[in-house]
Amino acid sequence: MSETLLDVQGLRVRFGGGTEAVRGVSLAVDRGETHCLVGESGCGKSVSALAVMTLLARGATRSAERMAFAGTDLLGLDERGMAKLRGNRMAMIFQEPMTSLNPAYTVGSQMAEVMRRHRGASRRAALDRAAALLGRVGITAPGMRLAQYPHQLSGGLRQRVMIAMALMCDPELLIADEPTTALDVTVQAQILRLLLELQRELGLAILLITHDLGIVARMAHRVSVMYAGQVVESAPAADLFAAPTHPYTRGLLDCVPAPGKVARGAQLGSIPGTVPRIPLGFTGCAFRDRCAQAMPECSGDIPAQTRIPGHRYLCRLPAGWPRDAAA
Ligand code: SF4
Ligand code: MG
Repeated sequence: MSETLLDVQGLRVRFGGGTEAVRGVSLAVDRGETHCLVGESGCGKSVSALAVMTLLARGATRSAERMAFAGTDLLGLDERGMAKLRGNRMAMIFQEPMTSLNPAYTVGSQMAEVMRRHRGASRRAALDRAAALLGRVGITAPGMRLAQYPHQLSGGLRQRVMIAMALMCDPELLIADEPTTALDVTVQAQILRLLLELQRELGLAILLITHDLGIVARMAHRVSVMYAGQVVESAPAADLFAAPTHPYTRGLLDCVPAPGKVARGAQLGSIPGTVPRIPLGFTGCAFRDRCAQAMPECSGDIPAQTRIPGHRYLCRLPAGWPRDAAA
């Protein structure tokens, strides 16, 4: 049986101005698996990840029914407790490496700092580990790179440095927010291959945020589709591609013939309209203005349904609604 590493239930995030960016998100990441969070921009994917890491901007409020990492209740941790986990047992990488890298310090000193802080390692030991990890992520001449500043590296190298830095303390969970979106296609492929290798070698669990279906098809064991702050469908990857059920998911996948045939860089299908901002107290299905199947009941509460065990979706339609019949 797989073991749940990260368990989030009923996560909510509010910003000032009465909007709710994350509205009751539940998701679990098992040890060693990749869980992809997918959806258009503005659906709450990044905000959910930042909420898990307790990295939300000031002014945001977070609540949840449960949020546990390896059995530790994250909701009960103060900032000190959270700082002990962050960058240590759970690490996060971003689309823009300069979010994590400090332009004022050399690669070596900021990588070493992570291990000195969390492990009390000596500077020498930390630098040795940094050099070894740079080599591991495919950087040649690591000794030279350690002495360089981030601006002296290409985008692809910076991304590798950020991954190596995230691995300094052997994290069990890596949260990766669009890690390859800013890179050209060849470098993207290399970085994805690297993440797959690292997962196999280290047993890393990865929560991967992406809007690229090619990446989902290549990387995901499980997929959660987000829309307007909610997970509207969650399933094992093969099942989601074979039998997408929520109209939003079907819309996203419409251009996709089969998971094995999804080209890298494949974009989400385009659905007319845009993701709405959701005011507090909103009821009903947030997708209804864009949904071709909408019915009057869709303005009321939407019960979660199960297609098969492990595959849930948030919609009033029955699991095999007409397209299956037509197929
Ligand atoms: Fe469409 Fe209604 Fe399902 Fe929402 S609940 S996706 S409006 S059918
Ligand atoms: Mg984002």
